[in-house]
Amino acid sequence: MADPGKLILVPTPIGNLQDITWRAVQVLKDADIILAEDTRVSSKLMKHLEIDKRLTSHHKFNEHKTVGHIVSQIEMGNVVALISDAGTPAISDPGFLLVRACVEKGIEVECLPGPTALIPALAVSGLPTDKFVFEGFLPQKKGRQTRLIFLAEETRTMVFYESPFRLVKTLGQFAEFFGEERNACVCRELSKMFEEIKRGSVKELEAYYAAHPPKGEIVIVVEGKS
Ligand code: SAM
Repeated sequence: MADPGKLILVPTPIGNLQDITWRAVQVLKDADIILAEDTRVSSKLMKHLEIDKRLTSHHKFNEHKTVGHIVSQIEMGNVVALISDAGTPAISDPGFLLVRACVEKGIEVECLPGPTALIPALAVSGLPTDKFVFEGFLPQKKGRQTRLIFLAEETRTMVFYESPFRLVKTLGQFAEFFGEERNACVCRELSKMFEEIKRGSVKELEAYYAAHPPKGEIVIVVEGKS
């Protein structure tokens, strides 16, 4: 009988291309099908890795429709690798729907260890790492205040993804809902040339970034309630 197919989630660099693992390169070379969030973004990585393969688009706007077809491709014996624009698929990126569909069908799913923004941010923050919660992006409008009220009681370290355009507003809301003295760490452009790590109270960080409007990608790590 032919080998059964499987789904492999392949983390890709969040900035520094040297962060790709040897195993990730091998899996991408060997895969029958590579699904990519944005084929233009990932084709640059493929070129850098000297992998000459067609990429199939799999993003939040089509994943509901394509999951069934991908599952049948795997059931026919294909090994499918999933990559996102950066970091680990399914972490604030497409992937969850496909993983769930595979699990429901009893299909083997693997995720290679590799780049993601949340773990380096947590580890470098200087805040307790023994217990933490990953909040991803806060809701932008509806539900934002309810979430902040809920999180005001959270005792574990919290990790948020944020856009540079909302950073100051979000830090201001952390000061309002969690208290001005709550410690935090803003990690900007991790693994890139202009990486910046700033630690301080949420009030101090709000003032700093109001005076120095940030660019690039950001993770905010916030101390839990003591
Ligand atoms: N799947 C990715 C992961 O595993 O981290 C996350 C994708 S999510 C769409 C993108 C967000 O991740 C950015 O808005 C930012 O909050 C965070 N991020 C990604 N790369 C980053 C970097 N190099 N430095 C800081 N934050 C980053």
